[in-house]
Amino acid sequence: MANLTGIGGEAAAQTSSLPLYHKAIDWDALYREYPVPDVYARSVYLWSADRVRDLQNRRFMALVDIGWKNRFYQSLWGKAGVAPGDIRSIDDIEKLPTFNSDDIKNDQAEHPPFGLLPGYESLEDHLRTTPSRLQSSGGTTGKPRYTLQGITENEVNSISAARGLYLQGVRTGDILQIPATNAMASLPWAYSKACNEYLGVLPVTTGSGVVTPTRRQLEIAFDVGVNCWMSFPEYLTRLAQAAKDELGRDVRELKTKMITTFLGPDTEGTLRAHLESLWGCPVYDNYGVNEVGHGALECSHRRGLHFMEDLSYFEILDTESFKPVEHGKVGNLVATVLYRKTFPIIRYNLRDLGRMLSTDTCDCGSSFRRMDHFLGRSDNMVRMRGVNVYPMGCLPAVRSDPRTTGEWVCEAWDGVVDGRAREELTVHVEVRRDAGAVDGLQAKLESRLKNDLGLSVGVKLVDEGQLQTVASLGEGKAKRLIERRAAYLKKS
Ligand SMILES: [Zn+2]
Repeated sequence: MANLTGIGGEAAAQTSSLPLYHKAIDWDALYREYPVPDVYARSVYLWSADRVRDLQNRRFMALVDIGWKNRFYQSLWGKAGVAPGDIRSIDDIEKLPTFNSDDIKNDQAEHPPFGLLPGYESLEDHLRTTPSRLQSSGGTTGKPRYTLQGITENEVNSISAARGLYLQGVRTGDILQIPATNAMASLPWAYSKACNEYLGVLPVTTGSGVVTPTRRQLEIAFDVGVNCWMSFPEYLTRLAQAAKDELGRDVRELKTKMITTFLGPDTEGTLRAHLESLWGCPVYDNYGVNEVGHGALECSHRRGLHFMEDLSYFEILDTESFKPVEHGKVGNLVATVLYRKTFPIIRYNLRDLGRMLSTDTCDCGSSFRRMDHFLGRSDNMVRMRGVNVYPMGCLPAVRSDPRTTGEWVCEAWDGVVDGRAREELTVHVEVRRDAGAVDGLQAKLESRLKNDLGLSVGVKLVDEGQLQTVASLGEGKAKRLIERRAAYLKKS
């Protein structure tokens, strides 16, 4: 035992044949390429659009080289008739075909466990040389999709979360609670690492309400002096209510500095206003996806979500023609991730709906393009009497009246009008227990929804709590559509 002291840890690490994380890459080079938050906020983030485009181009061309060596892209691009040499700069990106999550699922089913997309020859050899992490999508629609992250992917994902928090006002010495479990989803990991390793912020990693009950989450927040939060709107609302009901306190006593969250299609700001009044602090929106990481975020001016242009290149394409939409029109977000070498992502159609708000320089000084809030999933789209309807598009209407709980579920069904079959959509809307008189509410919502969706729909008012199970509220992403039309049930 005596010779355990002075054994020479440094020398031992250098002679080790293990793929030690902290020896596997050149860290200074990583931070030069992907600056940490404060350096970033005064450099890349403020670069001119041209300079940003040059950076994107350099990273994109390196990525295309990686793609040509990757069997997934060799096959995808080969089938589309693209040849090496066709892609000379990022201006040629539209020549490459897009792919979507079904292609990833098929790839992983045909070549288990992780498909050809990660780009290695042998998983065992890859793990021997590359300290890796396994993450997956939530799997709300079927089997989860796996992603593998090497060191660069893992670190840049965390650096990106840290940059977001920094731009939204979080500073060294703050204490940030993360009521989300460090498990298969990368988001909680990215935020706890961001605080711990890139900001000098204390992460309070309580896990979700399943791991740490809501009451205990609040006790910890009050005990520790938590002043910042990363959480989802539904849970933030629940925390505020539980503070009153179970502790007899107001979350505003926490004097929270800021909350970073994922607002979804809150195009009129009603959800944000609700959260801000509950918590008494600014609330910032973000957008991210498993395969991309942190894709877009609001700066302190909150006039759209800045794409993280140095890390991902986003396009907005028409949902049917796959051609770029006109500025300001809604389309599918298509991402090319400029920093992933393991599991490279090149023109991935996220089937998430987005809309460009502005390409002008923001008041914060950044020329990074800004998009509207995430507007919903295009594969949840319902084709109804020739009109494309997005169930998430009901959010502004449903939240426009304080008598609703803000929750809804759409039901598509086969109706009969004048003896003829007609597709119908009924929007079930929860009414607050303490709403009082609901006179005129149904008609008001029907009129507003007709205007927002471009289609006559019926509204059915239901009691508070009735949609809890149907919509899977409080279990991650809520379910907003029930399909009962025979033609569509047969297909799926
Ligand atoms: Zn800005």
